[in-house]
Formats: sequence, structure tokens, C-alpha cells
Amino acid sequence: MQTNTQEEAIARLAHCLKQAGHRLTPQRLAICRALIESENHPTAAEIFERLRPAYPTMSLGTVYKTLRTLVELGAIQEIGDAGDGAEHYDVNLHPHVNLVCTLCNSVRDMDSAAIEQVADEVERNSGFRIRGARIVYYGVCPDCAGNGGSR
Ligand SMILES: [Zn+2]
Repeated sequence: MQTNTQEEAIARLAHCLKQAGHRLTPQRLAICRALIESENHPTAAEIFERLRPAYPTMSLGTVYKTLRTLVELGAIQEIGDAGDGAEHYDVNLHPHVNLVCTLCNSVRDMDSAAIEQVADEVERNSGFRIRGARIVYYGVCPDCAGNGGSR
């Protein structure tokens, strides 16, 4: 992911919060930044741990609340737990597949033309304007399977 794109993505989240009337505190902004910069679908606890050194007064509750707000605003998505019992968050709203490894609990994105077609078809046939989707496959990633995958 390019830095430019990251800055745009952070600005998008900040804009959503502001539009909804939330004050853009340094902590909230830092949470948005951590969400974008952490490419592996972080949990609230991971974001909290990552930000704690710089924001010692921040609580896990603040992280949760900010993430909840972003989910409610449709700015990010919850993708459920990755076999680790914790909710993971995804900033990619484009229809895609999430691949969860049940051994290392990693979550990867995979673009799929077929999934995009399904989203198109659903919109056409239902009249829904799709704002998000959760498509999660559970399995064992190439690294854990010992295939020596490059990622
Ligand atoms: Zn794995």
C-alpha cells in the first residue's frame, strides 16, 4: 500500500467522524491511522497495544468506542473473529474475500471478480445499495501449510 493512498484512507475515516459530529481528538485520529497502517485486519486490542506507548492515557474502551462508531458510520467493517475470539476490523469496503487462517489467526484480503459480480447482481436484483459485505473463508494459509508461500 502506498503512503499516498494511506493518507487518503486516513482522511476518509477522519472525514466520516467529523461529518457525524464527532470531535477529531488526537486519540481518535491516531486510532484511524493505526487502523489504516496495520494491514493485517487489527483487533481493538492490537490497536490499543500499538498506540499505548504514544498515548498512555488512552483506554481500550476509547479504542472500542471509536471502532464501533466507524462501523456504525459504514466507514469500516467488522469481519468477525479469526479463530482468536476477537473481532477484527477491515477498512477495505470494496467487495472482496477475507481469508482467515485458523492456525496463525491471520486475515488476508483477496480480490475476486466473482465476488464483485455477486455484489452487482445483488444490487441489481434487490435494489439495495450495498455498503459492505462480509465474506470470510476459513482455512490454513500457505505459510502454515508449509508451502513456503511468498506472503
Ligand atoms: Zn497461517
